[in-house]
Amino acid sequence: MSGPPRQQPAIVVGHVDYAERDRIVRLLTPDLGRVSCLARGARGSRHRYGGALDTGNKIQAVLRPGRGDLWHLGETTLVEGRSGARADLVRLTLLAYACELCAGLAREHHPEPRLYGLLDMASLLLDTMTAPPRAAFRAGLESKALTFSGITPTLTTCAVCNQADSDSADSSSADSDPVGFDPTRGGRAHLRCQPGLRAVPIAWTLAVEAARQSPLRDLIDTDLPPGPPWALSDMIQAHLGRALNSRQILAPLEQAAANPLHPAG
Ligand SMILES: [Zn+2]
Repeated sequence: MSGPPRQQPAIVVGHVDYAERDRIVRLLTPDLGRVSCLARGARGSRHRYGGALDTGNKIQAVLRPGRGDLWHLGETTLVEGRSGARADLVRLTLLAYACELCAGLAREHHPEPRLYGLLDMASLLLDTMTAPPRAAFRAGLESKALTFSGITPTLTTCAVCNQADSDSADSSSADSDPVGFDPTRGGRAHLRCQPGLRAVPIAWTLAVEAARQSPLRDLIDTDLPPGPPWALSDMIQAHLGRALNSRQILAPLEQAAANPLHPAG
């Protein structure tokens, strides 16, 4: 890799420690997509980067071409920290999840302005909201991230036969052709077209489609009808070919929030 240094806005999406005092930091940028860069002295002294490299932070960074695919992280300025989101375990974990899925779906060294913009908005909202968001927020985040990476989930038609409901004006009717969700096919499918799927309510698929098309900020207080909570995440994992680590932490937290302990008796 060669060329002049690049000044970029970036969101810190993760890091691994390297050697004794260094750190390899992963960033999502609008112009360069996902990049890894060597942050020399990031661990030995807190002076060089301060707290700028915490996951979820928005920074302004100078990236200098390094060896192979690795950049060198030069002057770095914290633009927006995310201390608000860190006050709440669910929001902190959702922030980590948003970083992991947007960065995972982003290409390396390729412009990704829409995934960057989505993660920027999601982290700003998670930082400023006063309580964990309702279910439509995560569904909107996941469905938009899939869309922005070119794999729009199929939610209003069957992914196998391409037909919408025969009576879409009354799609919540019990007589509707039952459908399931197939993460590997990319969305909704009739049970008769794709036998073996578990049925999902059509109302849920339509509500997720509405979330996909709504601004994220409008979804903070929006619930979803009953449905499979991790179907879109399964689709992302099928596309990536690996599990999302932060989901393992987020799932039990959401479960606990949805089922608070009731007083005895
Ligand atoms: Zn079908």
